[in-house]
Amino acid sequence: MTVQSSQISQAEPAAIAIAGLRKTYSGRRGGAAREALKGVDLAIRPGELFGLLGPNGAGKSTLINILAGLVIKTAGTVSVCGFDIDRNPRMVRSAIGIVPQELSVDPFFTPREALELQGGLYGVPKRERRTDELLRALFLTDVADGYSRRMSGGMKRRLMVAKAMVHTPPVLVLDEPTAGVDVELRQNLWAMIRELNARGTTILLTTHYLEEAQELCERIAIINHGEVVACDSTANLVQRIDRKDLIILLDRDLTGIPAQLARFDAEQRGPRTLRIRYQRSETEMSAILTGLQASGLHVVDLSTEESDLEDVFVALTTKTKPVLPAAAQ
Ligand code: ADP
Ligand code: MG
Repeated sequence: MTVQSSQISQAEPAAIAIAGLRKTYSGRRGGAAREALKGVDLAIRPGELFGLLGPNGAGKSTLINILAGLVIKTAGTVSVCGFDIDRNPRMVRSAIGIVPQELSVDPFFTPREALELQGGLYGVPKRERRTDELLRALFLTDVADGYSRRMSGGMKRRLMVAKAMVHTPPVLVLDEPTAGVDVELRQNLWAMIRELNARGTTILLTTHYLEEAQELCERIAIINHGEVVACDSTANLVQRIDRKDLIILLDRDLTGIPAQLARFDAEQRGPRTLRIRYQRSETEMSAILTGLQASGLHVVDLSTEESDLEDVFVALTTKTKPVLPAAAQ
């Protein structure tokens, strides 16, 4: 009898598994405590390019900083590649590379020196260091031996990514990698992130740009006020954000969906109430109203019900001028 490999190999653990994660920052100097994470559950699969999308103040950096060991969680469990962050912090540290939100590079080291130093910090033996390879992969070869303080914001960001990769972690976490970065550079960073993922690195990135999450990620979790309000494939999520319900109160009892409205996703809610679900980007409201008129029914009242994601969506798409962090200028 042959043993199937699936029978002996255990299921591969999630790249990142988060359950019931809470963080309350204690108020400083008598200020009120702030609940930044209110019980977050997330599971990121090996090989995924996953986006955590949310407006400013949603709790994204708090979650990333907990993964990085920089913020102590209040409650919940976190594991990376099957290693629990409380029981096995060293294994977690070696399984994950973190690129924090703030640009920070030591101005007195060259990129090459910074990478060698980081390799040393992570205990990577000299002969196993990948300094040249990382410099190449992140387009830093030309500036490898110049002082980091002379580098542009984009170069600094790329150096931070290279630093996060010195120990070849299977999981890379990027906190707002393109915040405050101009459009062209954003494209370059996207290409780099895709490339790292294509080569097998699991990637979790946070962003407050809907467009960025849509462009890069296979799955997206939307976080708002410390809670995950949606987690779905990008296609499903975009469809849900676009969906709206029109509630119509009519002047008389209905005996079914009028033929003129049959082509819409219509449902009878009560004797005189109809619900028509439509995609904002595809359906003209006037087409629905024309259909109603053609049916001979009179509308007494109209209202719309927006999806739960509407508030978050509005916050995410409101165009605010990106503020360049001081270090990027
Ligand atoms: P995001 O990265 O999504 O913008 P953050 O995780 O930075 O969100 O912040 C979430 C909430 O926690 C915000 O209300 C923020 O003001 C608060 N917060 C973040 N860091 C601290 C801190 N060190 N002390 C107190 N409150 C904090
Ligand atoms: Mg943040």
